[in-house]
Amino acid sequence: MTQAWTMPEYSVRESKRARQVIIKISSSMGLEVVVPVRFSRSEIPAILWTKARWIEKTLAQTRPVKELKRPKSITFGLLDENWKAEYSPAQTQQVGLFEKAGNVLLLTGPVEDPVAVAETLNRWVQKRAKEVLVPWLGRLSSELSLPFSRVSVRRQRTKWGSCSAEKSISLNRNLLFLPLPLARYVLVHELCHGRRLDHSKKFWSLLETFEPNSRQTAAKVREAADSVPRWAQV
Ligand SMILES: [Zn+2]
Repeated sequence: MTQAWTMPEYSVRESKRARQVIIKISSSMGLEVVVPVRFSRSEIPAILWTKARWIEKTLAQTRPVKELKRPKSITFGLLDENWKAEYSPAQTQQVGLFEKAGNVLLLTGPVEDPVAVAETLNRWVQKRAKEVLVPWLGRLSSELSLPFSRVSVRRQRTKWGSCSAEKSISLNRNLLFLPLPLARYVLVHELCHGRRLDHSKKFWSLLETFEPNSRQTAAKVREAADSVPRWAQV
């Protein structure tokens, strides 16, 4: 698996009543950490890491509306595409999305609601990601003779990709936001897991035959989580 989780922003509150660290998530406060008095704040990140999966899931369901903004433009690094977003309010239930000439993306309907806009944009990202990533993985697989059984594309907050013992590969739709060499690295990394599921020395030397400097690239891929816009993480 290829890690993508960047620690979300959080606030810290001291409580005289707290006997231990309590992690709270709400749409008004976002991620909040309640700590006993004089608790060392440097210990908080490590605690949050152990709860990464739960935090991811709960934040996704909570929709922290206040930080969300409608994008003016959308850049897919992988495709070298830049879209200009235009908004046209209308009395409809759903936000509509239209691809227009000159890479203009027209959004219509209740477009004042950034959550509704984000949801529509994410459906579009999902569709585009599937169109691009599925055939690309197939091509890489036959080029490098690294077979897989199935591929799925979905939103994943903590991972860029994963591979099961059955060689079923799952790819993060937000790979579209990465530069091509980094996205390619993720696909090759997961294909190599088809031969070796672990991250042993043997795994890295296999990966190295297809992706020289793979450890440096892996570090860049982790940092690249920042290139995913906020609305694409909803
Ligand atoms: Zn891996």
